[in-house]
Amino acid sequence: MSCEIKGKERAGVINPIFTCQPCGAQYASIGIKSCIGIVHGGQGCVMFVRLLFSQHFKESFELASSSLHEDGAVFGALNRVEEAVDVLLMRYPHVKVIPIISTCSTEVIGDDIDGVVRKLNNGLLKEKYAGREVYLIPIHTPSFKGSMVSGYDVAVEEFVRYFAKKTEPNDKINLITGWANPGDVKALKHLLSEMQVKATVLFEIEEFDSPLMPDGNHVSHGNTTVEDLASTANAIGTIALNRYEGGKAARYLEDEFEVPAVVGPTPIGIRNTDVFLRNVSKMTGKPIPASLVKERGIALDALTDLTHMFFAGKRVAIYGSADLVIGLAQFCLDLEMKPVLLLLGDDNSNYPSDPRIKELTENVSFDMEIITNADLWELENRIKNEGLELDLILGHSKGRFTSIDYNIPMFRVGFPVYDRAGMYRHPIVGYEGAIWLAEQIANTIFTDMEHKKNKEWVLNVW
Ligand code: SF4
Repeated sequence: MSCEIKGKERAGVINPIFTCQPCGAQYASIGIKSCIGIVHGGQGCVMFVRLLFSQHFKESFELASSSLHEDGAVFGALNRVEEAVDVLLMRYPHVKVIPIISTCSTEVIGDDIDGVVRKLNNGLLKEKYAGREVYLIPIHTPSFKGSMVSGYDVAVEEFVRYFAKKTEPNDKINLITGWANPGDVKALKHLLSEMQVKATVLFEIEEFDSPLMPDGNHVSHGNTTVEDLASTANAIGTIALNRYEGGKAARYLEDEFEVPAVVGPTPIGIRNTDVFLRNVSKMTGKPIPASLVKERGIALDALTDLTHMFFAGKRVAIYGSADLVIGLAQFCLDLEMKPVLLLLGDDNSNYPSDPRIKELTENVSFDMEIITNADLWELENRIKNEGLELDLILGHSKGRFTSIDYNIPMFRVGFPVYDRAGMYRHPIVGYEGAIWLAEQIANTIFTDMEHKKNKEWVLNVW
């Protein structure tokens, strides 16, 4: 019985799990109110990312491109950034925050986005937009390094670095959610409200699930304001739920402003939600109320109904971002399942020393592989050519063909999910998320039992 973490052994990537760094920076930027990011690169660096966001949320989001062409790719294209900022400010009178997000091509040619921001601050903004509140923030996200996950982490830190300002204590905690869904944000806000804890949520994206109103609804946006970001320096403390998606910003606030930071665990499942609530309680001095003890009890009851009867021994493959995959693996273990293959879609020198990964490598009682820098061929090849037997796949929609082709049930979780309706509306965190996850996994397995006529009679009698 062994568990080891190792890198993918092949060069090249077949069916990537992630897209590139600028995607993460764009995801962070749409979480800010009155913000439109300019991606300095080819138009596709925005077009495909916007498409992913729209597919996942079934909404539209505003993002801009400097639309680099051949001449710019050779001679530099900072003039296009200058023009793009001017056009955005003219076209959108409400816009205040404009991150300038670099890409692979503009990093390779060495376009100085920090320099152009200085030039614009001293020129265009003073001359043409004097008196208007405008913040230009350079964000470096070369796509040949990291992934959309590290791009998100970098962008969250840059936004916090830019705006955070020490003034008066605000009696709130900072809650950095990581790459979450509206359903997660709602569930987290519910937990905090039950504890009577006030929080600045980074990023407040509950309204990515946008209503259709009588006056129309054209675009969705997050609700984190410039003031929210500024006041992060005045918080009681910061809780970053995900180590690799917002952890950097939490540590920055601790180092720079002595705002105590707690990083992780991702509150997937009951034990991690317990730790989250204990951390909130310790940070704020507020007790965990009876209402949450009851919610925990309801979740425990729901899970107990399913675990031994249906989940025990089920072999699971999980892919996606490290925080999500590890959180789901811990949840599977608590449900007596066997997460035999964990595919982390990128590489990070910190993964091997991550205490959660260490715990897995030291304690699992069956063979488990953790592959970094993985792609979806790592999953398919094991099934097709190496005899890997699975009862369940957990991951986003890009793996749907592996599930279909090899007849393995799959529950959609992560980003992007576009082939199942409304998944963004449901939480996977907190007690509510534990119930939703477990019951949806169970229903996925039940459908498979019926489809394959595999002990489906059990469903008559449990
Ligand atoms: S890999 Fe480069 S060109 Fe392609 S989308 Fe990412 S940043 Fe743009």
